[in-house]
Amino acid sequence: MENMEMEACEDNSLPTQPQRLVHLDLKGAPPKIDYYEKFVLKHEDFKQMREIAEYPMALCPLHPESLVTVCDMIDQVIALHPDIKAFHIGADEVFHIGLCKRCRQHMTDMCLQPEHMFFAHIKNILEHIHSKHPGIRPIMWDDMYREIDLDALEESGITELVDPMVWVYTRGPFKLPPAQWDKYATVFNSIWVASAFKGATGPCMFATDIGYHVENNREWLHEVKSQIVGKFSCFHGYCLTGWQRYDHYAVLCELLPAGFPSLAVCLLTITKGSFTENVHKEASGDLNFTDLIPLNPFSNVDKVMDCHFPGSDIYKAIQQLLILKSEYKSFIKMERLNGWMTPYHVRHRFANPAHIKHFLPIIQELLWKFQQLQIDMKSALSKVLYCDAVDEWISCNLNERIEKLTQTVEDAKAQVIRGATPKYYPDGFPMNP
Ligand SMILES: [Zn+2]
Repeated sequence: MENMEMEACEDNSLPTQPQRLVHLDLKGAPPKIDYYEKFVLKHEDFKQMREIAEYPMALCPLHPESLVTVCDMIDQVIALHPDIKAFHIGADEVFHIGLCKRCRQHMTDMCLQPEHMFFAHIKNILEHIHSKHPGIRPIMWDDMYREIDLDALEESGITELVDPMVWVYTRGPFKLPPAQWDKYATVFNSIWVASAFKGATGPCMFATDIGYHVENNREWLHEVKSQIVGKFSCFHGYCLTGWQRYDHYAVLCELLPAGFPSLAVCLLTITKGSFTENVHKEASGDLNFTDLIPLNPFSNVDKVMDCHFPGSDIYKAIQQLLILKSEYKSFIKMERLNGWMTPYHVRHRFANPAHIKHFLPIIQELLWKFQQLQIDMKSALSKVLYCDAVDEWISCNLNERIEKLTQTVEDAKAQVIRGATPKYYPDGFPMNP
């Protein structure tokens, strides 16, 4: 999808499908405005629009080029997606606003707070969408106004112009402010909610904890049934999010194919209204698992589950990585390695081959398995990602361990060849001062 979207952008057209999913896990890609900002603000040409000069996360709302640039980008995205009915402007986690010299001066002159700056900027963007694209309904995340009181929300000037999307990605009872839904129902007619099927459990997670996400989606089902339905004129539905980077500068986390089993389970849970044994069996059958989909990939890691679906080669390689990571952990803690072949021993060429010969074949085998996984993963990822992303994933998840294992094998072999010898002092025998 990422390749398709990018290639499509290059020739200015998109494949026509009745139910087109426009934004699929593409950090930096359309149509979320906050991602635009990170995407754009890292470039030299646009740096002057940053709210804080050294950080690329937030735009200065008062910079003369800011609004024009954002509106121009919105227009470009909408031109690429002529049939869309809604446009998500993002606008979550705006941590830097009202901080630059220009904004601080303006806030002092006009007696404004940071939230006024935020609402004014968002209102400008929403009004642009309404006037230039009247058939398109804007959506935005709610976290920037979740904690503010009803009066301030009513005065914001945005409630008529946008539908909020309320996100909570945690498991267990949600910690939303009291009377949250009553407050929103007073000012908004329509509402969306957002759960997660992957990506919410840590920026370095590469495998998906399905059980966690099932709990999150079950909690949303309960929240919608008990708190939302009946309060609003329109409950649009659930948005199952699944990001694969925490931001532009973060590593790739759970890849989409690695999250497909979670997506299948979570979608069925939402559709059927609960997570049951039948839902688990149906999702497993849909993805051709020979057994039930493992809900917790981190427990009992000892074998790769057999399954078949688009991208299952990546899912299986991720399972293999979980197994190898566990073996690698044992290698790092290996007593004979840490007791008889430390970096000190290597530097002084001082080791007993009897111990090295014990662990050398184990490390060689582990190295071989990592190298095999590197070959398999490269081939699987190359089918769905650009070379740059393939290189990034391999570098971040495999290369460091392969380098460490390779170096250890080389050092161990050299020690065995040298045999048991007296300690060697590369800089001469140390003398007391
Ligand atoms: Zn500013």
